[in-house]
Amino acid sequence: MTRDHRLDRSALILAPPSGVDQIIASFGDVHKYIQPDGTLDPRWQTEFIDRVALPFPLLLSWDHSKSVRQFACHKRLTTIFASVFANILAEELQARVKSFGGCFAFRPERTSVKLSTHSWGIAIDLNPETNLQGSAGDMDAQVIKVFRDAGFEWGGIGAETGETRCTSSFVPVIRLAHRM
Ligand SMILES: [Zn+2]
Repeated sequence: MTRDHRLDRSALILAPPSGVDQIIASFGDVHKYIQPDGTLDPRWQTEFIDRVALPFPLLLSWDHSKSVRQFACHKRLTTIFASVFANILAEELQARVKSFGGCFAFRPERTSVKLSTHSWGIAIDLNPETNLQGSAGDMDAQVIKVFRDAGFEWGGIGAETGETRCTSSFVPVIRLAHRM
């Protein structure tokens, strides 16, 4: 892939920290918990994943007959996610968060060494039905602002984080020290 080639070349010249390195420094190295058969060692969840309670139910994007009142995410983000959703409720924006598409999920990559930020439980997918890859998306600007105020960005930063497939995610912004 062209993008990978470019990153490899710049790494040789400048050795800048990659997005994945920044994620590992902040949230731990999930790669070390991948077992020889490609599955995730349950110790990863024990050590790094916790549950956060939601102040209002969210419909499951893959089954609108069900909703969740909690979800699994990285331990370092539980209080941040809790305050984000509390703020969404306080600003009466909850109707604009139409569905929950997942947060922590380990999806082994057969064709790439890059893991999704969902492996760390730091990306949260919201309203994925109307925010498919390649579409302009329709996430509400006020919801984006609530997340942005908490340090998250909406979609579109895949090259920096290793999130290659989801455009319906809020991902914490991890700033690169030597961005060229
Ligand atoms: Zn995602």
